[in-house]
Amino acid sequence: MKLIFASHNINKCLEVKTFLKNKFEIFTLSEMGIYEDIAEPYNTFVENALSKARYVYNKLNINCFADDSGLEIDFLEGKPGVLSARYSGEDKDDEKNIQKVLKELNSVKNRNAKFKTVIALIFNGKEYIFEGVVKGVILHKKIGKRNFGYDPIFKPDGFERSFSQMTLEEKNKISHRTKAIKKLTKFLNI
Ligand code: IMP
Repeated sequence: MKLIFASHNINKCLEVKTFLKNKFEIFTLSEMGIYEDIAEPYNTFVENALSKARYVYNKLNINCFADDSGLEIDFLEGKPGVLSARYSGEDKDDEKNIQKVLKELNSVKNRNAKFKTVIALIFNGKEYIFEGVVKGVILHKKIGKRNFGYDPIFKPDGFERSFSQMTLEEKNKISHRTKAIKKLTKFLNI
């Protein structure tokens, strides 16, 4: 059965595929001839993920899902949240985003934060939401070599290393994205 992932990100698509049995063929947007970026104008991950899934479903009328993720920092009342990629500007610069967060948390004791992924699925005309969360703390400086988003300044609870110090395999075992994907694939595999 065909299932569209409303994303241009081939790596995310491959990640989902590894969890699905042979029941579904997953296609990215470009594979379906959709090349534009779909807007994410809302204040919540759920609304953004749903609006992307609806956009694709309305266009293709094929079962599909979309995701939205980001970092929520308690002291900043959930920011950067849906603005995670563009927290310091439209150029989506990871380094500038990190420096902005470190500045805002300068000498702040409460450094609790969480990464969140929401996946919205439209399946046979019904909408479903799956959420994955990983809790942790924001470090005082960047630690680790593997650079993606806020990984160098995020240390998950129960671990002594930042996300950047972990191998991708280690990170993927506990990440917010994996948790949400597992919920989605459990639903689809039944
Ligand atoms: P997206 O919705 O998956 O594209 O994520 C939006 C933004 O949230 C990314 O550009 C990153 O800034 C941040 N983000 C989401 N997931 C992660 C992660 O696992 N590590 C670090 N940053 C992340």
